[in-house]
Amino acid sequence: MSDSFATLDTLNFDNSYARFPEHFYHRVGAEPLPGAHLISFNPEVARLLDLDPCQINPSQLAHYFGGEGVLPGSESIAMKYTGHQFGYYNPDLGDGRGLLLGEVVNQQGERWDLHLKGAGKTRYSRFGDGRAVLRSSIREYLVSEAMQGLGIPTTRALCLVGSEQMVMRNGMEPCAAVLRVTPCHIRFGHFQYFYYSKQHDDLRVLADYCIERYYPEVADAENPYLAMFQQICDRSAYMVALWQAYGFVHGVLNTDNMSILCETFDYGPYSFMDQYRPDYISNQNDETGRYAFRQQPDIVQWNLTALAEALLPLVDQEDLKDTLRQFAPKFVAYRNQRFAARLGWQSKHPDDAGLIEALLDLFTEHKVDFNRFLRSLCDYDGSIEERERLLPFVSNTDALTDWLEQYDQRLTLEAASTPIRRQQMRSVNPKYLLRNYMAEEAIREAHQGNYVLVNQLLRVLRHPGDEHPDMEQYAGEPPLWAGAINLTCSS
Ligand code: AMP
Ligand code: MG
Repeated sequence: MSDSFATLDTLNFDNSYARFPEHFYHRVGAEPLPGAHLISFNPEVARLLDLDPCQINPSQLAHYFGGEGVLPGSESIAMKYTGHQFGYYNPDLGDGRGLLLGEVVNQQGERWDLHLKGAGKTRYSRFGDGRAVLRSSIREYLVSEAMQGLGIPTTRALCLVGSEQMVMRNGMEPCAAVLRVTPCHIRFGHFQYFYYSKQHDDLRVLADYCIERYYPEVADAENPYLAMFQQICDRSAYMVALWQAYGFVHGVLNTDNMSILCETFDYGPYSFMDQYRPDYISNQNDETGRYAFRQQPDIVQWNLTALAEALLPLVDQEDLKDTLRQFAPKFVAYRNQRFAARLGWQSKHPDDAGLIEALLDLFTEHKVDFNRFLRSLCDYDGSIEERERLLPFVSNTDALTDWLEQYDQRLTLEAASTPIRRQQMRSVNPKYLLRNYMAEEAIREAHQGNYVLVNQLLRVLRHPGDEHPDMEQYAGEPPLWAGAINLTCSS
């Protein structure tokens, strides 16, 4: 088998985006990071690229993804896009600190973009230095694996490379680079660029490319562009439904951070909430709370509306509006579906939505660490002892007792035996989440040159529903200082 593995020198590149005319991007190489060294790599992502994880050479990874070497077959480009940032259109965006190194086609015929984030300046850097700091790179690297572990659509990352270069952010900080791996680096903002700059022929070219590459099943539809938009709305509803089901807050939901493939994209000041707080704002720079937890479904719909506007040269306006109207009910259905699974319900009953809402109200009122609560609920068997174990999650135990009585009733409608139900519930109720304090601890150690925790967290977050006895301390209540962590756009 090992003969069929590629090496970093023999990756099977086929760079379709680089074959577009040059106004889609500009060609530019990475600026080498001084003292580049490997901090971590992800064996599962290596396999996606046909690389043998056992044969990977750490210094070769640092050589290529520290920007010193150019991978044979790579043609690095900075993509042009625009987008709405905090509600305002910005025509000057593009890859300002990341480069698409190329597309690798693996033996299954899957096409993976390699994007080096933190690769140095490009034409689109504006006033930026083109770099990503170690702090933000660790956060992106770890959370993409955590999201994957939870089954939430996300970009992946092959490796994290540290360096000796320092830049000014929260004081002087070390730079790093992450190799992001995903089929799709096309953002809503790519379409907005061609729409607003009135390059409507190119808009069609881009749409055709996306259909061929991401949505081939719509190619024969009456209007493939409308059918693609319907798919994008549906998948976006699913993505944000899962965010809401696990308390994930993206933090910077600008249209340039929305993927056409509807994966969670461009991680910055994100959080998994330690307590259920619908008004939670993850990004200190978001003064109005535009991207607060409870706003996310509406904002995703707003972003879809911006995409719909950009598709006006290709699709009838009424058809776009009809599609957008289906977003909210789809979101609710997907979200409730996931909560039903988290509660151990396989069958569907008319009162389920009410029972879910009542639980969310309880979470809100008592600021419950709801991910820990739901994990504990996996062991609940209706006994008094088990009930006593859950009551400390809230301050009003009567309200939770009432809810649990209804829940007991509801469970009698399920066919699965208690052990089977528990097993199913554990698979969707993680014991481990990448809470901000855990990322902070990994960052603190990494700043001291110690990368053990980064690598341990990567391993645990890959299988967040499993037991990891050596990491038990991260399954409990977050420390008090967790509430004081401040995240900003530079996170
Ligand atoms: P983000 O907030 O990461 O989504 O980035 C928004 C825009 O700013 C994108 O066009 C980025 O490429 C650009 N950008 C962010 N940070 C930097 C940086 N350090 N240097 C240059 N451009 C940047
Ligand atoms: Mg971005």
